[in-house]
Amino acid sequence: MSTARKVAENLRIVQERIARACDRAGRDPHSVTLVAVTKSARLEWIRTLVDLGVVELGESRPQQLVSRAVELPPLVHWHQIGSLQRNKVRMLLPCVTLIHSIDSLRLLEAIDRIAGDLAVHPRILLEVNLTREPAKHGFTASELRAAWKQVFSCDRVRAEGLMTMAAYSTNPENARPIFAALRALRDELTRITPGHELRHLSMGMSGDFETAVEEGATLVRVGSALWAGVEE
Ligand SMILES: *Cc1c(COP(=O)(O)O)cnc(C)c1O
Repeated sequence: MSTARKVAENLRIVQERIARACDRAGRDPHSVTLVAVTKSARLEWIRTLVDLGVVELGESRPQQLVSRAVELPPLVHWHQIGSLQRNKVRMLLPCVTLIHSIDSLRLLEAIDRIAGDLAVHPRILLEVNLTREPAKHGFTASELRAAWKQVFSCDRVRAEGLMTMAAYSTNPENARPIFAALRALRDELTRITPGHELRHLSMGMSGDFETAVEEGATLVRVGSALWAGVEE
C-alpha cells in the first residue's frame, strides 16, 4: 500500500475510534480534537496528513517544532507536548499555538516575561503528574493547588486547562482512574478561580485515547497509531 493510502487508512480508523468513544460517552464528536504527534514521522507523511485536513500537529522537541513549522504550510497549528526548557521559549513562542507541558512556575513566569517582549499571549496547559512516577514531569496535584493563584497572576499567559500522561500499560483501563482524576482536579481548580474557564483536558495517546475520550478529553495526542505500517 502506498504511504498516502496507509496514512489515510490509519487516520480514518483513529477518527472512527474517537467517534465511537464519543458515542459511548454521549459526547459531541466536535468536542474532541485530534492532535497528530509527528515526532517520529517523516515530513512526507506529515504533508499527507495535512492534505487530509489534519492541521493540529504536536511535537515533543521545540527545535523540531520550529524547523518543521517553516517547512509546512502556515495553516498548521503547532502544539508543544514535550518538556520545554526556559532557554527554548523565545525561539518557540512565535511558532506555537498551545503549549501542553508547563511543569513549573519558573517556566510559566519565564514564558510570561518573554511573551511581554514579543507582544504575544501564549496559550498554555499545566502538566500534572498523577501517577507519581518520579521520572515524570509535571506538578503533583497538591503542588498545582498551591500554585494556582499564581498561575492567574500572569499578565500574558492564558491557562486553558490541564494535561497528563498515564503510566504505560497494555490495558487502557489502567489509565481510566488517572484520566478521571485529571477531570476532577480541573473541576476543583475551576471552583477556586471562577471566571477562568479551563476548557481543555489534554489526555490520551495511541494506547489509551478512547478511554481518555470517555473520561472527558478535549485534546488527544496520537502518534504511533497514525504511522503504523507506513513505509517509504
Ligand atoms: C509521543 C507522545 C505522544 C504520542 O504517543 P503515541 O503513543 O505515539 O501515540 C503523546 N504525548 C506525548 C507527551 C508524547 O511525548
